[in-house]
Formats: sequence, structure tokens, C-alpha cells
Amino acid sequence: MDTTPDTRCTKCGRRLRNYSPDGYGPKCRAKVRRAARSRELAQYKSHLVDKATELLEQGGVIPLRDTRKNVVYLTVSSDGLEAYRTARAACTCPVGLRATYMCAHRIAVHILTLAS
Ligand SMILES: [Zn+2]
Ligand SMILES: [Zn+2]
Repeated sequence: MDTTPDTRCTKCGRRLRNYSPDGYGPKCRAKVRRAARSRELAQYKSHLVDKATELLEQGGVIPLRDTRKNVVYLTVSSDGLEAYRTARAACTCPVGLRATYMCAHRIAVHILTLAS
């Protein structure tokens, strides 16, 4: 039985030859890293940007739906116990539902938007 999963880059869908902890191929990873240093993120608190970057590096942001208007991601908490649905404008995590503060999930989605 072939137990090797057919892994594909969660960003561009290209087949991955090597194990990827974040689910990205080398090119997409470089793009995401560059985007994480974008000046556009200066509007957010830096510890939240760090958290968002960490989430991306752990492969915790998985695209669910990609329609032209709205990209929805599944974001997984660092302990892997909770998962939220996140878009640029909204998130189902406790912070996101209150909508008073920006949460790291939405920042992570913003980084991915910048990386595309
Ligand atoms: Zn890719
Ligand atoms: Zn959130």
C-alpha cells in the first residue's frame, strides 16, 4: 500500500517533491515570507503579525473556498484543537466575532493576499 500522501502546495496546487511543514512549495513559501515583511502590515500590532506568520509557517491556514469575491480559509489554533473560518473581513474566532480587535487569523489571510 502506498502510504505517501499526494501532497500539493496549498497555495498554487503544484505537487510537492519534499515534505513541507507549512504546505507550500519553495516558491510560494518565499512569496509568503516576503509578504509577511510588507509595510502594509505596519497597521497591525507587531505581536499579532508575528503570530500570523507563525500560523502560516505551521501550515495552519488552509484555503477552503476560492470565489472571486471572497476567499475563505480554515485557520487552526496553535494547539491544533480549534479551527476557525477566516476571510479578510471576518473571522469566527472569539476575537473575530467580537470584531473589536483584529485577530492574527485575519492578518495571516492578509499576508496570503499580499503573497498572491
Ligand atoms: Zn505553490
Ligand atoms: Zn480570528
